[in-house]
Amino acid sequence: MQKEIIFLNPIFKETIWGGDKLKRFGYDIPSDKTGECWGISAHKNGDCTVRGGSFDGMHLSELWDTHRELFGNCEGDRFPLLIKIIDARDDLSIQVHPDDRYASRNENGSLGKTECWYILDCPEDAAIIIGHNAANKKEVNDMIMNKRWREFVREIPVHKGDFFQIEPGCVHAIKGGTMLLETQQSSDITYRVYDYDRLSDGKPRELHIEKSIDVITAPFEENSYDVTISFGLNYTSEKLIECPYYSVEKFKINGRAQIAQQYRFMNISVIDGQGTIDNTPIKKGDNFILPGGYGIAEFDGSMQLITSYIK
Ligand code: ZN
Repeated sequence: MQKEIIFLNPIFKETIWGGDKLKRFGYDIPSDKTGECWGISAHKNGDCTVRGGSFDGMHLSELWDTHRELFGNCEGDRFPLLIKIIDARDDLSIQVHPDDRYASRNENGSLGKTECWYILDCPEDAAIIIGHNAANKKEVNDMIMNKRWREFVREIPVHKGDFFQIEPGCVHAIKGGTMLLETQQSSDITYRVYDYDRLSDGKPRELHIEKSIDVITAPFEENSYDVTISFGLNYTSEKLIECPYYSVEKFKINGRAQIAQQYRFMNISVIDGQGTIDNTPIKKGDNFILPGGYGIAEFDGSMQLITSYIK
């Protein structure tokens, strides 16, 4: 008998910079300031529940604790990944994340945060902030303390379909109008360096200047990745990244396509189109997990998927 697909109910986060474009994914969002959809998450700040099947209503964290066989008997005290779709109507604060070592020492044993972005949508001539222009740590400190933001941040053009890996220590920010799918370590630790002096409920949001300066890597080094494209019958797959925390692939399916789930488990988000997986209907906005030992999944339809797994 084939193993069950674990469909998850998304969790929405309202934010000062959020918008209403998550509706485009078929989601029933709480307001027109909905910044994030946590599609696959077992994090304590947003622990998805299972939709349907034998585990209906269970939290993903519970499933991880009590049915580790679904996750290929992975070790670890928590489900390691978090998949979000982000809709930034306004610019996000300029931020940086710690690595595992810094986070476990300074953030109550939290994981650090390595994350990556697949750009779902953005305006023409849009920009994104990745990295900084300071030559060394001292200059990072000077530029931040003296609010030399224009000089400090490294702004580059961004287009629909672009992909970015954001290592801990890398300054980054999305600008208004950008939608993306984020695959990240299951961590919620963000250090805000600069928030454009905006107010939230009449007050500026807390900044984390010291911790930011602690963790920012200087000088910034651009990382380059080779995207591997492979072709199967009625599908193409692009491996966007393979790093110690996750691998991420994008699939384009047109027709009937067989894709092997040969990893401990595989996260899948449908980012466009619709169809079926092993005769179960799926559509844009669905997030699910194929458990360990699932084997060949047969897709049928016209759709695009982002998948992730760990080694
Ligand atoms: Zn981030």
